[in-house]
Amino acid sequence: MAHHKEERTLVIIKPDGLQRTLVGEIIGRYEKIGLKLVGMKMVKASSEHIDKHYNLDPMWRKNVGEKSIKGYLDKGLTPPSNDPLVIAQIVVDALKKYMSAGPLIAMVWQGGNAVKIVRKITGGTEPLTSDVGTIRGDFVLDSYAMADKDSRAIRNLIHASGSVKEAEDEIAHWFKKEELFNYELINEAILYGIEL
Ligand code: GDP
Ligand code: MG
Repeated sequence: MAHHKEERTLVIIKPDGLQRTLVGEIIGRYEKIGLKLVGMKMVKASSEHIDKHYNLDPMWRKNVGEKSIKGYLDKGLTPPSNDPLVIAQIVVDALKKYMSAGPLIAMVWQGGNAVKIVRKITGGTEPLTSDVGTIRGDFVLDSYAMADKDSRAIRNLIHASGSVKEAEDEIAHWFKKEELFNYELINEAILYGIEL
């Protein structure tokens, strides 16, 4: 098994993050927690590339559809459909538009618990309810209600892999092997070293 400091995760600063001029702020947060940047590029993604990204995990559509239906029911609203896959298609179509609307920044961050640590400091999916102190909680105000009213994807600045497996598949989808770098960061001796 690889050393725990070798866990990697994919982070994308979505087109609204660039438009909000938050690239430096966002990168700074992942740097400051101790993660190591091992790959980064600016990309104008095609709608097909985004479609594939959200189809890498065969369960993602079902999960996102069920989550959305539950959200409607919890608020006492009628979902546009009771079929999770129909709802998921609406979300995917909206995401294709959102994520290919302008350039984005794709990055790979590496370090102990990289996947979970990045999710924690990124915050929950809906900015309205993301914790204060997280990137989504601090820098954006969107909600499911606002997004649904205008039939668009919820604008939350960032994509971050949800699991180690999702991260592996997503990194391979966005980066070639030679675009990722192995190097020692001086901080690693303090973060992971046995002798301090
Ligand atoms: P994430 O892992 O926190 O980004 O969330 P998901 O993987 O569940 O969803 C991917 C992206 O789709 C989110 O970041 C949102 O931009 C968008 N999204 C997810 N669920 C919904 C929804 O129910 N309604 C709308 N409008 N957008 C959604
Ligand atoms: Mg996700």
